[in-house]
Amino acid sequence: MAEPRLARQAAVRTRLAERHLEVLLVTHLPNIRWLTGFTGSAAILVLTPERARLFTDFRYAVQAPQEAGTVADVQVERASVWGRVRGLLRERGWGRIGFEGHLLPAREADRLRGELSGSLVDAGEVVEGLRQVKDADEVAAIRAAATLAQDALAEVLPTVRVGERELDLASRLEAALRRRGSEWHPFETIVASGPRSALPHARTTERRLAAGDLLLIDFGAKVGGYCADLTRMAVLGPADEQQRTVHALVAAAQRAAREGIRAGMTGRDADALARTVIEARGHGEAFGHSLGHGLGLEVHEGPRLASTVEEPIPVGAVVTVEPGIYLPGWGGVRLEDDVWVGPDGPVLLSDGRTDLVELDI
Ligand code: ZN
Ligand code: ZN
Repeated sequence: MAEPRLARQAAVRTRLAERHLEVLLVTHLPNIRWLTGFTGSAAILVLTPERARLFTDFRYAVQAPQEAGTVADVQVERASVWGRVRGLLRERGWGRIGFEGHLLPAREADRLRGELSGSLVDAGEVVEGLRQVKDADEVAAIRAAATLAQDALAEVLPTVRVGERELDLASRLEAALRRRGSEWHPFETIVASGPRSALPHARTTERRLAAGDLLLIDFGAKVGGYCADLTRMAVLGPADEQQRTVHALVAAAQRAAREGIRAGMTGRDADALARTVIEARGHGEAFGHSLGHGLGLEVHEGPRLASTVEEPIPVGAVVTVEPGIYLPGWGGVRLEDDVWVGPDGPVLLSDGRTDLVELDI
């Protein structure tokens, strides 16, 4: 099957048959996009063994047939999309109806249950599971997003000045990302300076950059709907010894993980590749988050690389590798690259430039 969206629909149908489901209600928009190409903000996909019906509203009357018309039967609803889908379910009288229980609001699920004669079955993350495996075009889009992000940072880093706010730098970086063609920021750009770099999920603030500060920049780009997610480190001026030592340890841990990761490893094994390097030097407590996450149409998707995850990483997944060490009051270092876990081993999609940049200030 040359059309990837039809091949994806076929893969979902195989899963439905295994679970004896007659129909699947797909409500998660990234899943709908992956299966049909529709990029709008309101739709429900009703997938049966024979058909894919895409219900959307009048705002997408032109766009939906253009994007999805060759792989789905697009139906534009003037009143309520859910009302139309409920009507179809009643009319068809399907017995076992799968839905995305992890995403559909309980209110909507209860309402459906009350109205239907068939049983509503939580199909779990069927589509997300399949989405973990990327095809060549998806990998190319993530690589393009990473390249765009790296170029934007390379443009902006030489302009960093002592005395400007984290927000000033973030806004220049975001402008460069957009100018270079990023469709949107896949998440809030993090610029964390000095002691604030010790907050793993820092927000960008009014803090003014000072000489000697560590600068942690966690940012991304989106190309063709696919996200890149990178973290880079710099120092305002020459790095001191502790900055160099902590950075070198995180870089060693990151390299061990991004070179050692293989399909078939569990999330726990992958996480351990970096964690053991950091623990061996006594900083285990300071690496408080997991190693990484899947990347694709969403910036956080499967597989998760964490000590609690026993599922194996599938061949073809794209993941971030992002160990960090955070020392309260001093600062933190995180290095994040994007890796395709191919059949012959890992392939870096970002440039892996994890050196500690010393800015000329
Ligand atoms: Zn990130
Ligand atoms: Zn990340």
